[in-house]
Amino acid sequence: MGKAVDPVCGMEVDTERTPYRSVYKGSVYYFCSQHCKKAFEKDPGFYLKHGPAGMPHG
Ligand SMILES: [Zn+2]
Repeated sequence: MGKAVDPVCGMEVDTERTPYRSVYKGSVYYFCSQHCKKAFEKDPGFYLKHGPAGMPHG
């Protein structure tokens, strides 16, 4: 059992159930949809640096 935050949209994802996952620099990231997975894989550094869109961060 586990929860992770989709680094693209900020949604909480069930790590056991989502088929959308990606390994980047030795860490596993989970996504709510194929769309988010594709977006992350296109530019992982951007999402890791800026965080999920729409989430407050400073
Ligand atoms: Zn998402």
